[in-house]
Amino acid sequence: MRLLRKLGERIRAFMYGRYGFDELSTVLSVSALILAAVSAFFPPLAILALLPLIWSIFRTYSRNIAKRRAELDAYLKYLGKVKRHISLRRDMWRDRKTHVYFKCPVCKSYLRVPKGKGEITVTCPVCRSKTDRKT
Ligand SMILES: [Zn+2]
Repeated sequence: MRLLRKLGERIRAFMYGRYGFDELSTVLSVSALILAAVSAFFPPLAILALLPLIWSIFRTYSRNIAKRRAELDAYLKYLGKVKRHISLRRDMWRDRKTHVYFKCPVCKSYLRVPKGKGEITVTCPVCRSKTDRKT
């Protein structure tokens, strides 16, 4: 027990001031694992599998916490964009028989209007601009 406690203290002392593991590190490690598994069938991918693994290890032991946080923020921002895009496409497919989706020409946000209403004037809820649209 004393040896385990001592080992724990040494690891804690080593990790002091270092960034540690986060969501991006997990994604990098999992992608390295997937690439390593695929490389069993296609050996040149083994070198490619090392890159996310090395990046993940580097991030975990890095002392530049601000930079690692910025990387995580950029990753989460990108992930949010991808999730919103998938959600929008899913809604567009779900409503394909009852609604029409189009982009506001001014602010580029997506608008949803009922189908089959003829020529209508749509007011964007974001920028309040009016657009004539055939539905
Ligand atoms: Zn708008």
